[in-house]
Amino acid sequence: MSDHPYYVGIDIGGTNIKAALVNHHGSIINKLEMPTSLVGSDEVCAQLVDLIDHLREKSVVNSPQIKGIGIGVPGYINPAQGFVHESPNLGWKNVPLKDHMHRLTGIPVIVENDANTAALGELWQGAGNDVDDLVMITLGTGVGCGIVINQQIVHGSQGFAGEIGHMKMKPKTGITCVCGKKGCLETTSSGLAIVREGLKALQLEKETLLKQAYAASGDLSVKQIFDAAKQEDPVAMEIISEAAFYLGVALANLANLINPQKVVIGGGVAAAGQIYMDLVYASFCEFALDIIQRHIRIVPAQLGNDAGVIGCSWMVKTYL
Ligand SMILES: [Zn+2]
Repeated sequence: MSDHPYYVGIDIGGTNIKAALVNHHGSIINKLEMPTSLVGSDEVCAQLVDLIDHLREKSVVNSPQIKGIGIGVPGYINPAQGFVHESPNLGWKNVPLKDHMHRLTGIPVIVENDANTAALGELWQGAGNDVDDLVMITLGTGVGCGIVINQQIVHGSQGFAGEIGHMKMKPKTGITCVCGKKGCLETTSSGLAIVREGLKALQLEKETLLKQAYAASGDLSVKQIFDAAKQEDPVAMEIISEAAFYLGVALANLANLINPQKVVIGGGVAAAGQIYMDLVYASFCEFALDIIQRHIRIVPAQLGNDAGVIGCSWMVKTYL
């Protein structure tokens, strides 16, 4: 192995933990994945130590060659302290993750919200590698967002900036969000919201392909709803048009506010539905200021599931 430093990037998700050893060019040398323990943060930290040991063994890298460990966590993080205030996905509250992992490994640690680490990954090695300002939207079960200006994540005073998922789209008439408030973007345009509307439509008198899809699989997925829309099923089209309309409005508001060079859209929902993304773009163009809309590029993410571990590595390279 060379004398250049290596970085460990770790992406803790509600389902799986991904860990990678990354070199100074931003290339993944080795990566590993394991199911996330739901017992608690101590158990997860033990898993992280195991993953780091295995990565080192696989890659024949010694501890001194590892400059640091970057960790992305879903939820509310204070990045300066590496402190997890709350992670609903993991069931964590008040976890001093940076201190704990530093104690266990003796290696410097940096912790960040996972939507922000995905944005940094795309900035370094993905769809944003030719710009300094971007917004990364992750469309999955929820709607995540990382805002990068001048190659720096916009954190806000406590680290919680960029919560586009809780931008109010239907504040008076909307349904209640997981955050407790009404009408958030997550309730109109997330994967969960699209499936919720699909399940509601099964109760309608109308004929729809969604009923066949549900009868065949006993469930309904975002992909099945997109597939039905592609076949011009009017019920499915209405569901995704409504969801896309609000996402386009949210992106237009965001673009008008911060005027980024690019909006990078990733996540499973975006990957599954070009038809959805086309409708989002149409809505965005309707509401963004012309001068902003003409110059912005809205592009798909390029790194898929690797964005988080690469972004975590970038943080180690840049900040530790
Ligand atoms: Zn909310």
